[in-house]
Amino acid sequence: MSPLVLFDLDRTLLDLDTAVAGWAAELAEERKLGPEAAGLITALDAEAGADRARFFAGVRRRFGLAEPADELWEAFRRRLPSLVDCYPGVREALAELRAGGWRVGIATNGSGERQLAKIRRTGLDALIDGYAISGAEGVHKPAAELFAIAARRCGTDLAAGGWMVGDDPATDVAGARAAGLRSVWIDHGVRPVDANVADHVVGHVLAGVSVVREAGSGAGGPAT
Ligand SMILES: [Mg+2]
Repeated sequence: MSPLVLFDLDRTLLDLDTAVAGWAAELAEERKLGPEAAGLITALDAEAGADRARFFAGVRRRFGLAEPADELWEAFRRRLPSLVDCYPGVREALAELRAGGWRVGIATNGSGERQLAKIRRTGLDALIDGYAISGAEGVHKPAAELFAIAARRCGTDLAAGGWMVGDDPATDVAGARAAGLRSVWIDHGVRPVDANVADHVVGHVLAGVSVVREAGSGAGGPAT
């Protein structure tokens, strides 16, 4: 059976930082927030990390915006799929994996509608065998079931083993382990983590693809 490799979406295949910078530039322009605003907004994003509520509360406070932080957040969610793109080289790397006989899938947490909009807009849908989005399936990473759904959509199953590549240690790496997959953790350097939890640690998704290709299908199942 063709070996399986699953990828997380946000900050693994997709460059959310550039998308946030684009949104910040649009907001600054639209509200006439001044020449420094876009940079300040991206700095607030970096500071807040995964805590989006904190980020939007910070933006609202810093610029004295009238609408509640939740409204800003909602507008951002609607706009993001149009601003987001893959990291350079991602589409080519996925095409090469498939040409090399791999089954390639996506397992992502998030809204079914919005994550699918991102997958389609970036052309990833044509480059993968299947995907599983938590919002559509009613089950979230790190639950093994979401990985199992993604594997099935790729025409295989978790019993055959495989790989998971992602940037979140709690959902992607721990989830991979629960699902019996080998893991590659993309360390963006934003939070302290015990690197030993992942089978491999890399700094960028393309390095993760290289690890997977070099290691092959990992006959014998996941590393322990
Ligand atoms: Mg991610």
